[in-house]
Amino acid sequence: MPDSPRTVEQADAVVVGARCAGSAAAATLARAGHRVVALDSARFPSDTLSTHLLWPAGVAELSRLGALDAVTELGAPPLTHALAAGAGLTITTPFPEVDGIDYTLCVRRTGLDHALVRTARGAGAEVREQCRVTELVWDGDRCTGVRYRDAEGGTAEIRAALVVGADGRRSTVAQLAGADTPYESEPSGRDCYFAYWRDDSPDRRSTAAQWRQGPDLGTAFPCDDGLLLCLVQPPALSGALRPGEAERRYAAAIDRIPALRARLRGCEQATRVRSATGIVSYFRRSSGPGWALPGDAGHFKDPVTAQGIRDALHYGRRLAESVSPVLHDPAALDRALTAWDRQRVLECREIYHWTNRLARGTAMSPLEVELYRAATADPDLAAITTGIFSRTRRPAELYSPARMARLTAGALWHHRGDPRPVLRDIAHEIATTAGELHTSCTALRGTPFAVPPSTTA
Ligand SMILES: Cc1cc2nc3c(=O)[nH]c(=O)nc-3n(C[C@H](O)[C@H](O)[C@H](O)COP(=O)(O)OP(=O)(O)OC[C@H]3O[C@@H](n4cnc5c(N)ncnc54)[C@H](O)[C@@H]3O)c2cc1C
Repeated sequence: MPDSPRTVEQADAVVVGARCAGSAAAATLARAGHRVVALDSARFPSDTLSTHLLWPAGVAELSRLGALDAVTELGAPPLTHALAAGAGLTITTPFPEVDGIDYTLCVRRTGLDHALVRTARGAGAEVREQCRVTELVWDGDRCTGVRYRDAEGGTAEIRAALVVGADGRRSTVAQLAGADTPYESEPSGRDCYFAYWRDDSPDRRSTAAQWRQGPDLGTAFPCDDGLLLCLVQPPALSGALRPGEAERRYAAAIDRIPALRARLRGCEQATRVRSATGIVSYFRRSSGPGWALPGDAGHFKDPVTAQGIRDALHYGRRLAESVSPVLHDPAALDRALTAWDRQRVLECREIYHWTNRLARGTAMSPLEVELYRAATADPDLAAITTGIFSRTRRPAELYSPARMARLTAGALWHHRGDPRPVLRDIAHEIATTAGELHTSCTALRGTPFAVPPSTTA
């Protein structure tokens, strides 16, 4: 039997989770004049299992939210160049500008998320820490509030026109709304292991670097407090990690990537290794009468393209902007929620497929090598690739028929002794592209989800 709540209060919106998506939604709703309560089971400042590269589009979101000054004060160096290396080829490019921001930032989550919480509070949202939501309140099909346990162990209830589930991958709101089983998902072919190093390379603290070596992928991102975040993503292993295995797999992966090993020379490992395995990318149904799931609660992409924080901020803000004028008109609210959910699917499906390709956990294919080779000589091509990560360009621009024909011709020339790997790669690309198109036209076609009749009257 559920506990009876000690108190029942009324708000315009209640937001579950107060990090990226939650703070963005809460701050935006509060600025529009709504009474917003955000509940988080964490006590801030609080870390979370995530690395934290923000491409210019993510930094621009911080700026739109009014959080950039607070984040800048944390002292992470602006990263002005991207370095991508593999198959003996190295491409260095500046970042594309998004809203006047042409740099990337890597800020540890404890400071970043605390700045976001302060921003939400500064905007007028009430953020309550150490409060865990355990139940949703329903009126028929409509979600009308939440019950939660506070820091003292008491139970309280908040009634609201909108419940925003910004509570991450293991979302309680998704589960209680019956939306936790994704309608589209893809297991990752990579695991994540990361640690922080005291950086001994002042001359390299403006570069975000990624190396590919065989099936391994390793990155070095200078971040706040003079640290360097070094993340490796080797092919995924099945089964649970045994004690000490994360450290061993981390060290072994670094050793397999000589350029990363060289980047770390003179640096001292400052923290233990953290790991994320068994990663799955997905889309969940993210809206229903009176509820919505921005951020990871509704949609997750493998960390290999570092899109999650930007998307959580972006779609948290856009959710709030779209529902704000109609919060107290249930039919209009549900239409706005459905449209927001649909729009996110349509806007994210291409980068979802692109991310899944990079998360395959395989060595660079002949066509990928050819792409790197072409990009070393063609700054426009390199700019498209960097732009995809910052969402200023689309993956489709890379895979135009003309470009694919040129890459294929180049790859065949470089494999003229034995073209079979190229032919296999082409066959694989065709099959992958056909699969992506099929998924985009079926599960990810963005068709509005039906709103139950009782709420459309
Ligand atoms: C290993 C790894 C590396 C990553 N690296 C990057 C990267 O470099 N760049 C990038 O952009 N993204 C990265 N991501 C993705 C990024 O972490 C997420 O996309 C982002 O944190 C999503 O923000 P969110 O607000 O949706 O959820 P979260 O950040 O997960 O926040 C959810 C909040 O909800 C709270 N909560 C949960 N349940 C309840 C409840 N029942 N009641 C109250 N509160 C609750 C939690 O305490 C938490 O504070 C990475 C992810 C992983 C796993």
